[in-house]
Amino acid sequence: MQYKKKNFYVENISTEKLARKFNTPLYCYSYLKLKNNIINFKNHFKKINPLICFSVKSNSNIKILREIKNLDCGADVVSMGEMMKVLKAGINTKKIVFSGVGKTYSELEYAINKNILLINVESRSELLVVEKIGKLKKKKIDIGIRLNPNINAKTLQQISTGKKENKFGVTEKEFLKLVKHAKLSKSLKLKCLSVHIGSQIFSHKPYEKMLKVIDKLIKQTNHKFEFVDLGGGMGISYEKNNKKLNLKIYNSLINKFLKKNSCKIIFEPGRSIIADTGILISKIIYIKKNKNKNFVILDAAMNDLMRPALYGAKHQIIPSKKNKKITNKIFEFVGPICESTDKFLTTKKFQNIREGELIIICDVGAYGMSLSSNYNLRTLPAEILVKNSKIQVIKSRQKLSDII
Ligand SMILES: *Cc1c(COP(=O)(O)O)cnc(C)c1O
Repeated sequence: MQYKKKNFYVENISTEKLARKFNTPLYCYSYLKLKNNIINFKNHFKKINPLICFSVKSNSNIKILREIKNLDCGADVVSMGEMMKVLKAGINTKKIVFSGVGKTYSELEYAINKNILLINVESRSELLVVEKIGKLKKKKIDIGIRLNPNINAKTLQQISTGKKENKFGVTEKEFLKLVKHAKLSKSLKLKCLSVHIGSQIFSHKPYEKMLKVIDKLIKQTNHKFEFVDLGGGMGISYEKNNKKLNLKIYNSLINKFLKKNSCKIIFEPGRSIIADTGILISKIIYIKKNKNKNFVILDAAMNDLMRPALYGAKHQIIPSKKNKKITNKIFEFVGPICESTDKFLTTKKFQNIREGELIIICDVGAYGMSLSSNYNLRTLPAEILVKNSKIQVIKSRQKLSDII
């Protein structure tokens, strides 16, 4: 996705054309980018040869899931809905892992009936429920136990998951107790140790600490884990000067770990695979000029893309059609929703823009559409995929009549 002369393109189709054809706000994805991301990810971890279970909560469009399946990935799901969708997308049950702190009895039963690869339990209570279902069905159920390694992932507080004050996983002490329990159980087969310490992690240091904790703990259990599931969280750059996680270093840390522990590594990447494959095209409805600020009021809002309102996340905003006239004034890009957090970005300068023109919000492929809602009774936007020069509507725009 890039400018060709003055216009921004998704592969070989201009965003101006896409907006004209499908209206705005519009999510657009590039298949080529997705394919390259997955190939690059795999190349970084060639020797490890991990099972890649795409984190479905980051993007659950079924057409995207089908492409991801065809690129040889499995899925990490966190609800019955996600599980049903990845099965519909044709993802092999032996490539599905189920995470989450609050899996209900019926969700667990459904997963057990489908014989998925792993249920990663996050508490003693959950483990007991899985055991009970196994007993009733006279089945031995493959499980993992999610460890909370008490590590500061140095990411946004709202997306940290591996500190002891976070609700996820179990402490080392509890982990050891649950391992003992699972090993003695006739209905459980303990196959995996899983972790996921947070999202948007830039430094390899938290991962290094995490691997140390896992290594130590596995020794203490004296159990042969077939899988170690390291979760996702690999950080990507949303701003020009932002760093991203050095996968080379992470790879060498894992290789070191594997010398001492022979097991299959599972990754659950979401953002690092899908974030930069998507953009959101939006039209400027009004420009409201104050003395020292221009409010640029867009037809996209926090219901279409919630990350800025939810986490204060920053997504770059660029014009669909470039010009050279820069205005040095504060521009605040906002949506029409009746909430003061409904704003995307504040910049100190922007090119000359006018009402009716288009802008592009970048890197919205992860936690974009999947976090959208009907707040303010606004319809969900459409999603399109550009693949091999062809445009596919992978989700049509919701109609007002569907929600009224
Ligand atoms: C959200 C989540 C992921 C994916 O995180 P990213 O930062 O998108 O890579 C992986 N595993 C679990 C258990 C998650 O909850």
